[in-house]
Amino acid sequence: MKRILFLDHTSALGGGELCLLTIAEGLRDRSEVVLFEDGPFATRLRASGVSVDIIELSQKVHGIGRSSGLLADLAATPALFGQILRIARKARRYDVVYVNSQKAMVVGTIAGFLARKPVVWHLHDLLEQSHFSRAHIRISVTLGNRLTRYIIANSEASLAAFREAGGRAERISVVYNGINARPFDDLTSADRRDVRQALAIPDTAFLVGCFSRLADWKGQHVLLEAARNEPEIHVLLVGEALFAADASYGVMLRALSQRYGMDDRVHFVGFRDDIPELMFACDAVVHTSTAPEPFGRVIAEGMLANRPVIATRAGGAVELIDDKVTGLLVPPSDATALRGALVTLLRQPDLRNRLAEKGHQTARQKFASDEMIRRVGEIIDALP
Ligand code: UDP
Repeated sequence: MKRILFLDHTSALGGGELCLLTIAEGLRDRSEVVLFEDGPFATRLRASGVSVDIIELSQKVHGIGRSSGLLADLAATPALFGQILRIARKARRYDVVYVNSQKAMVVGTIAGFLARKPVVWHLHDLLEQSHFSRAHIRISVTLGNRLTRYIIANSEASLAAFREAGGRAERISVVYNGINARPFDDLTSADRRDVRQALAIPDTAFLVGCFSRLADWKGQHVLLEAARNEPEIHVLLVGEALFAADASYGVMLRALSQRYGMDDRVHFVGFRDDIPELMFACDAVVHTSTAPEPFGRVIAEGMLANRPVIATRAGGAVELIDDKVTGLLVPPSDATALRGALVTLLRQPDLRNRLAEKGHQTARQKFASDEMIRRVGEIIDALP
């Protein structure tokens, strides 16, 4: 069995990091995770018994954003070099370098090359201009083509965007995020009541939850607009801005809720670790991203929580939900369509149950965490 050095640049708990948490936990006996900063992700990994090492990036490199151009990337190059060498030294003790984020990919492919170790890239992003600058896409695709041995894409949509951007890798396959279903099972109506009581949300309210970090493209403003004239609907906003660039969006959302006169039925609860319980306390789970979602863990989690899910029809979401069978799809940025879907669910409890049940069955099969860990382990062990 091959030994794996996992790399991720951030210690914020985004979807890619939560996916790696499950994989690293499953393969912890033969791996170590290197992060470029300490923080909540490192804490969660350590609590799961995973070995973690922090090799810090210089501030210059941290400052590079998804939309930065080539110049910013080049300016940070000397600062990167020392870090790459440290990782290359560490990589000699492992058989495979596994890169899990864009910045980790840049550092890890070069470190892997220097240490003569194969690199596996877990692609959690849609390499499109709705998410990245042209220069970043070019760098990612070039490194992906030249310096990776295998690419694991988190959806057909991410794989297609990589190909569209010039990705030529032959060893590439789609592995959906696997999510541990256990915390979603065994929740009872008493848990639901407790959560609602703690949040001061009436038992009778029709509660719609959105579980994404606060960022403009995650589209929580569309949900507020959709629920604005529907006084029976309460909105639960779970999540915080994870990255500095998104800090003002939460302020804007709170102002919007006030302007729409919805403060008594919009509940901001910040970043939470008890997602299964919170989803179970909702009557529907809504995904509102205005740009194509690479995968959309929150959609799969809503299905596992046995709740009807509404998601926007773009990117990976389309692979997760079969419209009107395992959930509902609405066009992105369309508050009128979202309002229609919400009102349909509000009025039709039978439909809610049917969608939730079918969604739950599908998610148990398609997003099983054991299966994801098995497939990733198999890909790694079969590397030439
Ligand atoms: N999440 C969480 N706490 C929160 C909000 C979100 O743990 O307060 C989790 C959520 O359950 C999901 C992940 O963050 O597992 C977000 O992943 P997704 O693929 O939906 O979006 P990303 O953050 O990767 O863009």
